[in-house]
Amino acid sequence: MFDLSKEKIDVKCDCGRKHIATLQDAINRKTIKCSCGTNIQLNDNNRSARKGVNDINKVFRDLENTFKKLGK
Ligand SMILES: [Zn+2]
Repeated sequence: MFDLSKEKIDVKCDCGRKHIATLQDAINRKTIKCSCGTNIQLNDNNRSARKGVNDINKVFRDLENTFKKLGK
């Protein structure tokens, strides 16, 4: 089964470093420690998380379209 919570999201620090978290981390409001000393508080309203979900929704739509085509 496709597990949405394991979907990876990009979290960008103010210093420009990129961190990889999962949607589950965002839902759990996990804090990511950047090597620049900044603590990045994740939350499920995070723009990155929402972008990830949108990407996944797009993937599902594409899949659905593919199946529709196959069904013809
Ligand atoms: Zn940083």
